[in-house]
Amino acid sequence: MTDDDGLDTIRSRFTRNYPPAIDTGKGWHNILLEMDTALAAADPVVAYIQIKEKWGELRVYTTSTTNEEARAIIRRAEEKSRVTCEQCGGNGSMHTRGSWYRTLCGSCAAETNYVPYQRR
Ligand SMILES: [Zn+2]
Repeated sequence: MTDDDGLDTIRSRFTRNYPPAIDTGKGWHNILLEMDTALAAADPVVAYIQIKEKWGELRVYTTSTTNEEARAIIRRAEEKSRVTCEQCGGNGSMHTRGSWYRTLCGSCAAETNYVPYQRR
């Protein structure tokens, strides 16, 4: 499976037991590419299991690694997703629509009828 989105290098580093699905909006693709480059250098052996959006945040699952640097790289990418619009890559924050959560900027949120999330 190949998409013309520049993420094939990342797909090539998935473990063969799982389909190489990258299930996030385009706004996070730069975060993923930066993460992948750093990760490949820090731990060439580690393989992806799943890359997706969950509760409005990036989640990256890999084969187990004891490499602290690799873990920190993944953690930083996930943290960055919390302040990056998943749709356009601009500055974002948590938004909600019903029971759905997404990290979006103001204009992408308005386009899709999401409202800023307020913790009760
Ligand atoms: Zn946006």
